[in-house]
Amino acid sequence: MNPTSTRAISTPHIADWRTRGACLTRDPEFWFPKGSTSPGSIQAAEAKAICRTCPVAITCAAWAIEKRLQHGIYGGLDAPQRRSIARKETRRDLTHSGIVAEVRAAWASDERDPLVETYLSHSVQDIDGHVWWRGRKTSYPVAGRDLTPGQIAYELKHKRAASGHVTVTCDRFGCVAAEHLADGIDRWQRDHATAA
Ligand code: SF4
Ligand SMILES: [Zn+2]
Repeated sequence: MNPTSTRAISTPHIADWRTRGACLTRDPEFWFPKGSTSPGSIQAAEAKAICRTCPVAITCAAWAIEKRLQHGIYGGLDAPQRRSIARKETRRDLTHSGIVAEVRAAWASDERDPLVETYLSHSVQDIDGHVWWRGRKTSYPVAGRDLTPGQIAYELKHKRAASGHVTVTCDRFGCVAAEHLADGIDRWQRDHATAA
């Protein structure tokens, strides 16, 4: 948990684990995605993915469950997932090892959108908001369809398949930032608006 987070619960004793979080050097707000649709869902999935590589993820998750934190991603779990474990803890008087088992089970059963998974496993965001694709293939299998990186990113943002080919709207060739892409419908609407 990032100690600079303005939303963090402050406790009198700052435990050592907080200084070892994978989020320490990042913007704390990133762990508080807005909304449950794209791009909020993409951000939440990205935050969870970072948490799950964090050396103190279990401790962080258990701490957030114990504190009943109502917002944000902690230890790779969102608030509803933590509430679910907290309810079990109340009902069954779970021990710490029981909570750890529940956290691991929540990670394992976390339903993931294959689009999000493919995007996250190949994309790298730069500090200017552009996103680069890792991998040389021109298309990737996603739930039975072969999609280009641009189509994957576009569908994530718009919640619909791209119409025609996807083009980049920023000045960085190859960028796959979801908000820097346009499909055939977008181009038609833009041209129509320009001509009107
Ligand atoms: S588990 Fe996530 S929120 Fe907790 S310290 Fe690690 S990166 Fe930060
Ligand atoms: Zn871009």
